[in-house]
Amino acid sequence: MLGTGTSSGVPAIGCDCPVCRSTDPRDRRTRPSILINLGSSGAGSGSDPALASAVRSVLVDTSTDLRAQALANDVRRVDAILFTHAHADHVFGIDEVRRFNAMQRSAIPIMAAPSTLAEIRRMFEYIFKPPPAHGGGLPKLVPFAIGGPFTLGGWEFVPIPLLHGPLPILGFRVGSFAYLTDCNDIPAASWPLLDGVRTLVLDALRDRPHSTHFSVTQALEIVARLRPEQAYFTHVAHDLAHEATCARLPAGVQLAYDGQMLEIHE
Ligand SMILES: [Zn+2]
Ligand SMILES: [Zn+2]
Ligand SMILES: [Zn+2]
Repeated sequence: MLGTGTSSGVPAIGCDCPVCRSTDPRDRRTRPSILINLGSSGAGSGSDPALASAVRSVLVDTSTDLRAQALANDVRRVDAILFTHAHADHVFGIDEVRRFNAMQRSAIPIMAAPSTLAEIRRMFEYIFKPPPAHGGGLPKLVPFAIGGPFTLGGWEFVPIPLLHGPLPILGFRVGSFAYLTDCNDIPAASWPLLDGVRTLVLDALRDRPHSTHFSVTQALEIVARLRPEQAYFTHVAHDLAHEATCARLPAGVQLAYDGQMLEIHE
């Protein structure tokens, strides 16, 4: 879990609330992102030769805090990047990918829904249509449009269509793990895709309802229906103190925190 906070981060700039003033490191939340390290799985290869079967380290979103997250977690390799959607908190670290390009001496595939790719191309025109006299380096990214399940490093990744207010976005499932951030509804057609998920990371912004994110109560309803063995709430605002909130959540449900490592055995 590279980042588990909402878009403003926790602490929020200029806020004196108890969570922003907390000394519990789990109350410091950077912008939402995860890194998936794929274990050995039988080395299948992707159908696309550009997506080498050697893919091991998959980043989900390039958060505003990507540089700090990579340093804090000693991330040295990113083989592919998946995007859930193109909101600022999920994409504004995209320039930091230059460092991985340099270390790996290669371009890095980025994968997203066609609408998200179009938005990223528009937001970061300097990357995809660089001006002739551009100075510093540019991230080297190879876009792939997600049209259904795809294979990375021998693992099948299943995109999970979600609703983030009116905006359709993607969650991702790998094996029995699912990452569903930035959503306040799971469309009926997506439920079968989540059958058998045992480890769930799910959006839960705060207690009060919100127009584009699940509240804690709503997230608990999803957990009750899906019945994973473990659920971790992410995209958490400064309304929720880590320890006090975990103490009132049911068994098997907790707030995720930055730097948390989930080990998943298939
Ligand atoms: Zn977000
Ligand atoms: Zn605060
Ligand atoms: Zn969002």
